[in-house]
Amino acid sequence: MNIVVLDGYTLNPGDLTWKDLEALGPCTVHDRSAPEAVVPRAKDAEIILTNKTVLSSDTIKQLPKLKYIGVLATGYNIVDIEAARHKNIPVTNVPTYSTQSVAQIVFAHLLNFAHHTAHHAQTVRSGRWTSSPDFCYWDTPLIELAGLTMGIIGFGRIGRATAKLSIAFGMNVIFYDIAKSSSIPEGCQPAGIDDIFRTSDVISLHCPLTSETKKIINRERLEMMKKTAFLINTSRGPLVDEQALADALNNNRIAGAGLDVLSEEPPGENNPLMKARNCCITPHIAWATIAARKRLLRVAVDNVASFLAGKPQNVVNGVKTKDVR
Ligand code: NAD
Repeated sequence: MNIVVLDGYTLNPGDLTWKDLEALGPCTVHDRSAPEAVVPRAKDAEIILTNKTVLSSDTIKQLPKLKYIGVLATGYNIVDIEAARHKNIPVTNVPTYSTQSVAQIVFAHLLNFAHHTAHHAQTVRSGRWTSSPDFCYWDTPLIELAGLTMGIIGFGRIGRATAKLSIAFGMNVIFYDIAKSSSIPEGCQPAGIDDIFRTSDVISLHCPLTSETKKIINRERLEMMKKTAFLINTSRGPLVDEQALADALNNNRIAGAGLDVLSEEPPGENNPLMKARNCCITPHIAWATIAARKRLLRVAVDNVASFLAGKPQNVVNGVKTKDVR
């Protein structure tokens, strides 16, 4: 079966290999595909892999040979899964490849706020320590994490991994989740959402983007936060009302924000957070450690192999079996 990868570049910019996928059938890998290129490129494909290239109902209808869609990510909102189900096309995702990497970047942001390591190292490099009258100096408040309260919103896989790291740093952990937790790790306490905002020194977002969680960080909730508190968002940009957050940062309403995601990616120049005070933005890299991308590619290839063997795995649209002959 013909395999077409529509946008392979971010998963494999050259440091991984497609050979295991190529072993499964004739395979064409495109770095990225503009919307108008999708149908011409995929018209002979039985198997399509996509990361962020949209496969709408209209596009799926124009691909009569299509038998399988593999999403190269956990979130699959870019595929019209109902339109695929209607045509008995299984859509698969890769559920858990980046949990530890995402939890890790929460602390990359948090430790950056605690010590501003890169900033201080830059002042040393530019000669300031050499000419300092004292044996040390610092430009920003230096913060010890032990004893602070980490408030986690969304206590699933990444939320729990973040809790574990927080406990290792000596932080107290409170969490809010709409689902009742069957097991609560030692050192973690459930809390109401308003309590999370009022009492946390750090709030870290780990819930998915849904109609309920859109703008879960808004003006009213930012008003509830401690002036010394930090917000970390590694989940999805639209969880945050970006103008409200920019105002809260610029008005010293909260201490800082570490963001790996924005509402529009790549962001427009006018995004109010781009120049907000003490706002540190990384370009959606939490998932992209080499270890996580290796796991992602491995599972994506296994998903295709399982489909070809007639037993599709990690199916997200309820299409369980498919005659592949
Ligand atoms: P998960 O499904 O294991 O956990 C999500 C948790 O959020 C669940 O426990 C769920 O009950 C809870 N939740 C749902 N709605 C809620 C609400 N209204 N309020 C509070 N909690 C709610 O998912 P995960 O693997 O932990 O991933 C979490 C999110 O991380 C994903 O949805 C994705 O958006 C994001 N993510 C980002 C990156 C990145 O590169 N930045 C990578 C992977 C995942």
